[in-house]
Amino acid sequence: MASKKYVYLFNEGNASMKNLLGGKGANLAEMTNLGIPVPQGFTVSTEACTKYYEDGKKLSNDIVEQIYASLSNIEKLTGKKFGNIENPLLVSVRSGARASMPGMMDTILNLGLNDETVEGLLKLTNNERFAYDSYRRFIQMFSDVVMGIEKRRFEDILDEVKESKGAKFDTDLSASDLKDVVKKYKALYEKEMGKEFPQEPKEQLLEAVTAVFRSWDNPRAIVYRRLNDIPSDWGTAVNVQSMVFGNMGETSGTGVAFTRNPATGEKLIFGEYLINAQGEDVVAGIRTPQPITKLHEDLPDCYEQFMDIANRLENHYKDMQDMEFTIEQGKLYFLQTRNGKRTAQAALKIAVEMVEEGLITKKEAMLKVDPKQLDSLLHPNFDQDEMKNAQVIAKGLPASPGAACGKVYFTAEDAKMHHEQGEKVVLVRLETSPEDIEGMVAAEGILTARGGMTSHAAVVARGMGTCCVAGCGDVKINEDAKMFEVAGKVYHEGDYISLDGSTGNVYGQAIKTVEPEISGYFGIYMAWADEIRALKVRTNADTPRDASQAIKFGAQGIGLCRTEHMFFDEDRIPAVREMILSKTEEQRRKALDKLLPMQREDFIGIYEAMEDRPVTIRLLDPPLHEFLPHEDEDIRDLAKEMGISFEDLKSTVESLHEFNPMMGHRGCRLPVSYPEMAEMQTTAIIEAAIDVKKRNDYDIVPEIMIPLVGELKELKFVKDIVVRIADEIIAKSGINMKYLVGTMIEIPRAALTADEIAKEAEFFSFGTNDLTQMTFGFSRDDAGKFLKDYYDKKIYESDPFAKLDQVGVGKLVKMAAELGRKARPDIHLGICGEHGGDPSSVEFCHNVGLDYVSCSPFRVPVARLAAAQAQVKSPRK
Ligand code: PEP
Ligand code: MG
Repeated sequence: MASKKYVYLFNEGNASMKNLLGGKGANLAEMTNLGIPVPQGFTVSTEACTKYYEDGKKLSNDIVEQIYASLSNIEKLTGKKFGNIENPLLVSVRSGARASMPGMMDTILNLGLNDETVEGLLKLTNNERFAYDSYRRFIQMFSDVVMGIEKRRFEDILDEVKESKGAKFDTDLSASDLKDVVKKYKALYEKEMGKEFPQEPKEQLLEAVTAVFRSWDNPRAIVYRRLNDIPSDWGTAVNVQSMVFGNMGETSGTGVAFTRNPATGEKLIFGEYLINAQGEDVVAGIRTPQPITKLHEDLPDCYEQFMDIANRLENHYKDMQDMEFTIEQGKLYFLQTRNGKRTAQAALKIAVEMVEEGLITKKEAMLKVDPKQLDSLLHPNFDQDEMKNAQVIAKGLPASPGAACGKVYFTAEDAKMHHEQGEKVVLVRLETSPEDIEGMVAAEGILTARGGMTSHAAVVARGMGTCCVAGCGDVKINEDAKMFEVAGKVYHEGDYISLDGSTGNVYGQAIKTVEPEISGYFGIYMAWADEIRALKVRTNADTPRDASQAIKFGAQGIGLCRTEHMFFDEDRIPAVREMILSKTEEQRRKALDKLLPMQREDFIGIYEAMEDRPVTIRLLDPPLHEFLPHEDEDIRDLAKEMGISFEDLKSTVESLHEFNPMMGHRGCRLPVSYPEMAEMQTTAIIEAAIDVKKRNDYDIVPEIMIPLVGELKELKFVKDIVVRIADEIIAKSGINMKYLVGTMIEIPRAALTADEIAKEAEFFSFGTNDLTQMTFGFSRDDAGKFLKDYYDKKIYESDPFAKLDQVGVGKLVKMAAELGRKARPDIHLGICGEHGGDPSSVEFCHNVGLDYVSCSPFRVPVARLAAAQAQVKSPRK
């Protein structure tokens, strides 16, 4: 039986084979087919990675055989041979998953070098310095990436040799210096590994391929995947590509470039390169690169060709490209191209301008911006008043926009730890590496001393929408001593600084930040999203202020107004407590009478803010203990107010204790016990609506929502109270007002009996927070403590409270929606759990045919775009 194909030559693939070849592999294949100069090679597929894990982390014989067969193909194509002393083939080995994971996986260059082939390389190029420089780089990368020997140990050796020779840059070292470095590197390897550095190129290759597969599962890759919703079973591909050299003298070089500016979106080639350097020099920021326009002076022919290919690639992929290139002795090669990561501002500008240029349609434009990225547009700027006294202490590169203020920490671990303790932190590093990912996520802003606009810090921060100032050479950082010095002043761990990621300015003080203004491309783009989407977007808002904010962000109504939030105000809590602790209906009514005018005012404010838009108001929901006084002093004050004894009240408080309050006396169970509570709230809702309608002539149709229903009769009991009170008030008012009564679906039993429930409910709102809690049996309040173990052990990949569990909870939602519609064809369906602002959950809601999602005000733009994307991907009639 012919064995399955696991390895593909570049000319055997194309861009559509991303799942199999990974993004990088598919694009290398596509470029090969387009006739773009690409060093030839092959891709070991993502299926090989999956098989590697299935086989207990082993490369099976058929994969190995296919690698060797492809290798001899490359040897034929290049005329070079693996391990050959006369004309050695050297390769790079790089990871390439389906979705780009910048810096998360590892790269090995110059593989194939050994004590003999290095001499071959020397003879071939007549450049001893180059040959030994390549060899020492290879030993370092192989040892670090494949064998896990710390990179720093090699850098220390290099620094020592540089110092002893009085060399400032690597390029100042002579060939014999580098030979010395190689010897020392090999000695370090032997000491650490207890064996000689491997001399057999095929052994090196298999080790390297295995290392890439292994790195798919390293902790930082796992963190990145979780942050970006990338499933672990996708696996990574490995690209093995013949090497070209950017470090072969003054007509060689290497660089990275974007077809448009990834920070601003401006339509101008944007990039950096270094003459006489190899790949990682540019990204690592060890030498300061030149802007790409200067290539016009250094190597004009290469520049012309580069510009031509860059334009072709952008037109071909219909997206901004992020390209890596190398020039080997005047000949240009493209090493990779991919859709470039960009800031939210840039993403919007690029999407809008590409539509205006006629390159893409509005629908295609919807898929060019990651909804989560919009968050960064809502990020703060500095308060202008405070800026008057702000002192710029240093200036770096404006790597990722936004303003940040926090206490400085010098390691990712410290930044993470202090963030978890509630501090706002700024991560300050010489340069960042993938190991720093968690610290970068925790930080308000990132400051690095080294690195350009394409350095790790810059690329990752932009992707996350975190403010970043990179390459700030003014600050002299001592990471070990946890301090930096700038302009004669020392800043220690815990001191405040502020960063402006849009200008590159660093301030030596705390500066207040304020919310941004939204306009321009955002407005145009979001208007297109609104034209396209089928799903409506409402907001969860409990105050007129939140409601107004949400309207500015495009909310079309309120999907959830949690009335309990109004009960926590200092001037109300005594009356609320009085209501809860009342022993008789009479006492309770007295307390409720105090609350009524306040509730009415709350709702008037909200209706006025929302004008004609729909508003769903939920009756009181949370467990009552949340409102109770626990300190004796508070109990004493309250007892006085209620005219009862301290002991009496204290024993009532104690009697209200519940072992499992989230499953206790809450939601509709409260008015089942105390109907007068629903009476008061209905009165406030309807009276407020009538008042606002009379004064403004808005077409208000109050939507009254009954929470935590699990049984039809329970719903009917509370609904009857609501209807009786509402009808009485409306009749008395003499005006015509419609209202709706609906329920939340947040208890599995309600979902299972949704056809029954729909007999009494005019709308359903899926409360997926509680529905997730009760379907999984995970406490909403406590699961965070142990869910981490579930991610670590790969039982779950994401937090089911943040991203809807479509398999289980989603099945209930889908089923309830269908049952509800069957019983009541015009039933209105929405979701108001946290998932309403999560892009993948929004897509799910679109696909199961809900009418709207409701989310917190700041996530409204995210939901609007996610809804438009869902419609583009799978149009609803
Ligand atoms: C829910 O349970 O999803 C919901 C929106 O209600 P709450 O979060 O207030 O319980
Ligand atoms: Mg709930």
